[in-house]
Amino acid sequence: MIPFLDLKQINYPHQAMVEDAVQRVVRSGWYVLGVEVQNFEKDFAAFCGADHCIGVGNGLDALQLILQAYDFPKGSEVIVPANTYIASVLSVSFLGLTPIWLEPDPVTMLLDPSLIESRITEKTKAIMPVHLYGRSCEMDAIVQISTKYDLKVITDAAQAHGATYRDSRRAILGDASAFSFYPTKNLGALGDAGAVVTSDPNLAEKIRHLRNYGSLKKYVNVYKGTNSRLDEIQAAVLNAKLPFLAPENNRRCQIAKRYLNEINLPALTLPPADRPDEDVWHLFVVRHPQREMFINFLERHGIQTNVHYPLPIHHQNAYREYRHHSFPITEQIHREVVSLPLNPVLSDIQVDHIIEVVNQYSENN
Ligand SMILES: *Cc1c(COP(=O)(O)O)cnc(C)c1O
Repeated sequence: MIPFLDLKQINYPHQAMVEDAVQRVVRSGWYVLGVEVQNFEKDFAAFCGADHCIGVGNGLDALQLILQAYDFPKGSEVIVPANTYIASVLSVSFLGLTPIWLEPDPVTMLLDPSLIESRITEKTKAIMPVHLYGRSCEMDAIVQISTKYDLKVITDAAQAHGATYRDSRRAILGDASAFSFYPTKNLGALGDAGAVVTSDPNLAEKIRHLRNYGSLKKYVNVYKGTNSRLDEIQAAVLNAKLPFLAPENNRRCQIAKRYLNEINLPALTLPPADRPDEDVWHLFVVRHPQREMFINFLERHGIQTNVHYPLPIHHQNAYREYRHHSFPITEQIHREVVSLPLNPVLSDIQVDHIIEVVNQYSENN
């Protein structure tokens, strides 16, 4: 069986260095906000082409801390894609803000800039592009609208470490960007971890306070903050793995290009192939009108798949107040998407097998 994602295999190439890093922290006697976090913040900011990185507890907290730092009045509106992982929208709700849901572009499955302007009101304060599956949203158009209406662009880059837009890693960030280092992400810790990346010095300074009880100096509390700190062990793990992020993204890209070139099943819609080198291929998401049969066929031929995501957010119980809303593009995406295995430890032989089996699919076998 080719597993969809085997975290033991993913971390195997880094095992010795990760174990050294953890041991270093254990023996240091310093476990929260120390030199490992500082080093990671410096290096990850540089990797992203930004001035500041603030390590936090997880990706959801990163989004929430950005929204908290901007201090928008309660009831302000934030434009979000209707098809995303629920965390993007939860961050908005959690701050007492109102998510304004937008249908995605049906081809890229990303925020559709042409729909943004018609939804802007005097309450709108921010746009939240989500670089879903590892591909950057159309940042030029989004930034242009945000400038015209004086909105903040807060990006959810939890699936897009290292993705570029017009050859720039910085261009995907917007005013502030949230990253997650959940173990399955392109850069994964051994537990929960996240970061805010921004080039706005005031915002960075405020979030540095907020993640630590609103304080940078012991017992001096400037803001009503929270506790969401990246810990030293996770930072040390991330320091050990960061140098391999770019080469691993390249391997993902190599596999994605083979899928794009060699998969030729007519009923299957592949992701857009227009700029494969800018995409970091966190997930390779195809669409099939009879998804369950396709998934079962792959399973019978030794290939495990996954669905990101089976149920749109407005159909989740958590958001039942939006149940009457209709988002036909979003709903169709959630009915049809299937993620094929794609990760840096997949071998050429496994990729051959996946392509061969997918191309053999027919409803009769
Ligand atoms: C993983 C993810 C998050 C949340 O990250 P956590 O670290 O699990 O809190 C947010 N948005 C998207 C799109 C994600 O994929």
